[in-house]
Amino acid sequence: MTICPLCKHDRSRDFPIYYQFNQKRFQAKQCYCCDFVFVDPRPGLEEMRLLYGDEYFLHDGTDFGAHSTTDYETAAIKGSVKFPEILGWIKKFRPSGDFFEIGCGMGYFLEYARRNGYSVSGIEYAELGTRTCREKFGLDVKRWSFEEFPPPADRFDVVFMGDVLEHLLQPLEMLQKAQRMLRPAGIVAVEVPSMFNSITGRLAAMGYRVLGTQKRMPMPPYHVNEFTPKTLSAVIQGAGFREVTIVQRIKAPASITLRGTIFEKVTKKALQYPNYIITKSLGVLGDRLLGIGIK
Ligand SMILES: [Zn+2]
Repeated sequence: MTICPLCKHDRSRDFPIYYQFNQKRFQAKQCYCCDFVFVDPRPGLEEMRLLYGDEYFLHDGTDFGAHSTTDYETAAIKGSVKFPEILGWIKKFRPSGDFFEIGCGMGYFLEYARRNGYSVSGIEYAELGTRTCREKFGLDVKRWSFEEFPPPADRFDVVFMGDVLEHLLQPLEMLQKAQRMLRPAGIVAVEVPSMFNSITGRLAAMGYRVLGTQKRMPMPPYHVNEFTPKTLSAVIQGAGFREVTIVQRIKAPASITLRGTIFEKVTKKALQYPNYIITKSLGVLGDRLLGIGIK
């Protein structure tokens, strides 16, 4: 039986995408009750090992590795264009204090937060990322998976997760854990992709439904959760945070990752321009979400 990782109800329908990995099919499902989209079955221990070896950081293809068109570090440097916007939002809520990042990768964002006045620390699951954080930036980063990390209670003012929650098998329980680590009135800030909230994503999902087909995703099942503004807000609230704010963001047309057939690539690129203008001016149809909740 398939249980929704967010609301724990057991009624779901197929969402028209799936992944094929390790000789298994990982089907996306959508909960009837709360609309949350998640991959079922959840990858097991064996698959998690295969998914997050060094390959994840070093491979530079669209089909494996850090699911980017470049190796992880190049992607991290390229991704730093979004740092001022994200930290700007965090600063509106908590302009200083103890800042903890879960899954800090190679440490670029954590270092940026430190340069902007926070006292920073964090955890990272991958050996290579942890080493880079320490050696390159001298950051206080320990090697842990967040699932196994023993959380200090009431210790931080900001807990940040960037491109992490969509990878976690138990997003609700992990946000509850983050909540316990925060001091009263501390904030959690969660940044995730939102593939099916953009114009292209909505059209694609609608098209597959109309045609009665399923799209095989051209990558391993790294993203076991697909968030929309509604479900990101619900999971943050469900973990015990109040006054949840969802900011919709969008990638610049020049920097999007293109996959699939020529038709898919051209369509996605062409639609990203109007989408960019709409999201920038109206704050809707974003392909990236930043959710902030207060303890
Ligand atoms: Zn649900």
